[in-house]
Amino acid sequence: MSDLLKSTALKDGKRIVIKIGSALLVDAEQGAVHRKWLETLASDIADARARGQEIVVVTSGAIAVGRRYLDLPAGGLRLDEKQAAAACGNIRLAHAYQDVLGHHKITVAQILVTLEDSENRRRYINARNTIETLLKLGAVPLINENDSVATDEIRFGDNDRLAARVAAMISADTLVLFSDIDGLYTADPSKDKTAEFIPVVKTITPEIEAMAGGSASNVGSGGMTTKLAAAKIALNAGCRMVITKGERAHPVKALEEGAKATWFLPDATPKNARKQWISGSLKPVGRVMVDAGCVKALLAGKSLLPIGVKEVIGTFERGEAVQVIGPDGEIVARGLMAYGAEDAKKIVGVKSSDIEAMLGYQGRDVMIHRDDLVLDHD
Ligand code: GLU
Repeated sequence: MSDLLKSTALKDGKRIVIKIGSALLVDAEQGAVHRKWLETLASDIADARARGQEIVVVTSGAIAVGRRYLDLPAGGLRLDEKQAAAACGNIRLAHAYQDVLGHHKITVAQILVTLEDSENRRRYINARNTIETLLKLGAVPLINENDSVATDEIRFGDNDRLAARVAAMISADTLVLFSDIDGLYTADPSKDKTAEFIPVVKTITPEIEAMAGGSASNVGSGGMTTKLAAAKIALNAGCRMVITKGERAHPVKALEEGAKATWFLPDATPKNARKQWISGSLKPVGRVMVDAGCVKALLAGKSLLPIGVKEVIGTFERGEAVQVIGPDGEIVARGLMAYGAEDAKKIVGVKSSDIEAMLGYQGRDVMIHRDDLVLDHD
């Protein structure tokens, strides 16, 4: 593992994804973009680029900005209102970034992505190639969720996980979450005086997850829980992640100069790109229930054979991601199915040598090949 991944110095990053939360960028009352602050961010980005660092920005705030121009009421919005607000807000956000970065002769290019784009391998690779090309051409990719076309079931809903998926997608080495909280505490510091700050996290243990439970930040869609989910995706991809307060002027510079922050550092060699993608899949489309013998075989590094399968649940095509569930109901692994749901259901419990007789064609011997399988504790 390279030393970079042990470092808590921002200047060591070569490819950095910066996530900007809504609360930082947009005035909650007025719905106006915090222009002065954004100018200081742009100047930091220009400095980072001048040092040779590649920067990708994942921005929130489209709904917060757009609702003002559409005169939508205060308080919670319906999904269709959010979709409309995002359509109106993304264009204004992009303008604001274009203006402030334009002063530094930096070109901005906007990409709006959906959860589906990151779950479908071909679209994932396409999005990755576009971002890579933009970086090669010297632009700053500006990314947000395409809320206008995403319904609730197929939304990330928070840009913390979206930013982590993007970081993994483009093999970034650093993910910065600028937030309204300065990092992770053992308990919610606003409620518990004994809460202690945690400067470095290497593994996201159940204890760490429990800490996040009570300390959700109240602005934007992402509380501490989505930030830890983001950290898992990032660490799995071998990307370090840092949470820090972003509201001060020149937030990137402040972080470079050692501002208070929680750094999440990967402690293992990243999985290959395909396995990373599988383990980061957020919406498996089906479940394969397996017996204890099968779990044992999987843990020993074997492929998943139809004979160890008890039941196949869900509707999916060949090549889609499913969860593998053990006899106690625990998620054992995730993987890409060698058969679509219809055929997979026909070969439940069947010996591999009998697959042809059951399906009328010679398919693969396995239901999930081990190259397409990631154990949950990998
Ligand atoms: N995609 C949403 C927006 O631009 C923000 C999601 C979030 O707050 O993380 O308004």
